[in-house]
Amino acid sequence: MQTTIVKTFRRNVSTIRKNFEIKMQTTSEFYCAYCGEPNVTFVDLSAGGQQSYIEDCQVCCRPNILYLRVDEETLDIEIDTEYEG
Ligand SMILES: [Zn+2]
Repeated sequence: MQTTIVKTFRRNVSTIRKNFEIKMQTTSEFYCAYCGEPNVTFVDLSAGGQQSYIEDCQVCCRPNILYLRVDEETLDIEIDTEYEG
């Protein structure tokens, strides 16, 4: 009886951890500030609701500054792009 309880508990913990990892990293789309082509970027949600970093365009290879906002309730992501410099 006790063994069964332990097994069930372990399975729940593992499921929760898996869901947590999926929620903490996602992908979002942004449009290159140079050529206007859509790009996909990986977003680490655990880094906070407001982030900015530089990512090279996958089409023209020029650096875009991404300003990223995450809605903490819906996890919707908004990205503004800017030329570097
Ligand atoms: Zn581009």
